[in-house]
Amino acid sequence: MDRVIFLVDMQSFYANVEKVFQPELENKPVVVAGNPDIRNGVILAACPLAKQWGVKTTETLWEAENKCPYLVVAKPRMQVYINASVEIAAVLEMFSDAVEPYSIDEIFVEMTHSLKPFHGDPQKAAVRIKRHIQRMLGVHARIGIGPTKVLAKMACDHFAKQSSAGVFTLSQDNISEQLWPRSIDHLFGVGRQMERHLRNMGIRTIGQLARFPLEPLKKRWGINGELLWRTSHGWDPSPVTADTHIRRKGIGHHMTLPRDYYSWKEIRVVLRELSEEVARRARKNGCTGKVISAEASSRNVQVPAKFHRQVSLDHDTNDGKVIYDAAARLFHHHWDGYPVRSIGVTLHQLTNDTFRQLSLFHPLQEREALHQTIDDIEDRFGSGTILYASSLTAASQAHLRAQKIGGHYK
Ligand SMILES: [Mg+2]
Repeated sequence: MDRVIFLVDMQSFYANVEKVFQPELENKPVVVAGNPDIRNGVILAACPLAKQWGVKTTETLWEAENKCPYLVVAKPRMQVYINASVEIAAVLEMFSDAVEPYSIDEIFVEMTHSLKPFHGDPQKAAVRIKRHIQRMLGVHARIGIGPTKVLAKMACDHFAKQSSAGVFTLSQDNISEQLWPRSIDHLFGVGRQMERHLRNMGIRTIGQLARFPLEPLKKRWGINGELLWRTSHGWDPSPVTADTHIRRKGIGHHMTLPRDYYSWKEIRVVLRELSEEVARRARKNGCTGKVISAEASSRNVQVPAKFHRQVSLDHDTNDGKVIYDAAARLFHHHWDGYPVRSIGVTLHQLTNDTFRQLSLFHPLQEREALHQTIDDIEDRFGSGTILYASSLTAASQAHLRAQKIGGHYK
C-alpha cells in the first residue's frame, strides 16, 4: 500500500500569529523583524499584505520600509510562536497518531491509516485539516501530499504554496510531468554549490538528474549523489516519527461529557476508557511512561472547580489497568465531589519500550499478550470492537469514541 504523507506548512507564520493576537493589525501590512529598533534588522516574516508591497523575508527593515511606508513592525515573540506551533501539532493529532514537527511552521503527518473518515481521499482530508487549523488558530495552512516525505515537502514548497487551493499532490503518476521540468535548485537537498556543480554537468532540471546514470553521480559525490538522484525520483524511505513530539508532550486523552457526571460509579467508567485509549496509543507508538496525570473540571462558571494532578510510578507502563489505577487514586485524593463535565488522562515521561529490560519472571507478560491480541483485533475491526463490560453502562463514552478521530468528533 502506498503511504500518504502530508507536509502542513503555515503561511507567513510569525506575522500571521501576530495578527491573530493583535486583531487591530488585521488589515495592515505586518512584518516581524529581528530588531525593530535598528533599521538594518532583518525581516523574519512578512504577512501576505506586506508581500503585496514587494516586502521579502531576509531583506533588511530599511529596504522593506522603503517599499512600504505603512509597514507595521512587530518584535519577534518566539515563545508565542512555539506555543502556537505546539497547538497546531495538537490539532493535527486529532487526525493522526504520527505527527512530526519539521520546523516551527512545518509539520509532517502520516495519513496512511487515517483516511477512513474521508473515504480514502487525501485531498478531502487536507481541505478539512486546513479548515480546522484556520478555525481553531486563525492561521492559513498549505498542504503538500505525497507517498514520501520528500515528495510531500516539494509538493508543498513548489506547488501548494503557489496554488489558490493551497493543496497539491505529487506522486509517481505525475512527477515526470510536474516535478521533472522544474529547475534543479527546486530539488530538495540541492544547495547553491551543488546547483552550480550540477549545472556544470549539464543538469539543469530535476528530470535531467533523474535520467542521469547513477554510477557517475555516486562516484563523484558518494552517498549524497545517490540520495539526490533518489530524491529526483521521489524515493525516500524515511518514516514520519511521532517520537520526539510525543515524548515531549506525553500521550493524553481528554473528553467532554454529554452531561454532568455526579457519581464515582459513572466517572470511573469513562476514566477506564480513557486509560485504555492512552495505553493503546502508547503501545502503538512503542513507548511506555512513568508519570500519570488525571484532570477533571466542572462546567459551572460561577464556581469553577477543577483539579489536575500527577503521580509518578516506580516503573514504566503502557498497561491500561495500571494507568487507570493511578488515575483512580488521583481522583480519590483530589476530586471533592463536584459535578464533572470534562475528564483527561495523560501518560508522561515517555521512553521507547523497544529496549526495555524484560525480567525473567516478568509479571506483566500475560497482560502484554492480552494487549497484543486486543490491539490486533482493534486494528483489524476498528477501535471500540472490544470493550470492558463497564462500557456497556449508560455512563460509557466508548461508543462515541469509536465515531471520533482521536477523541474529537469526525
Ligand atoms: Mg511557512
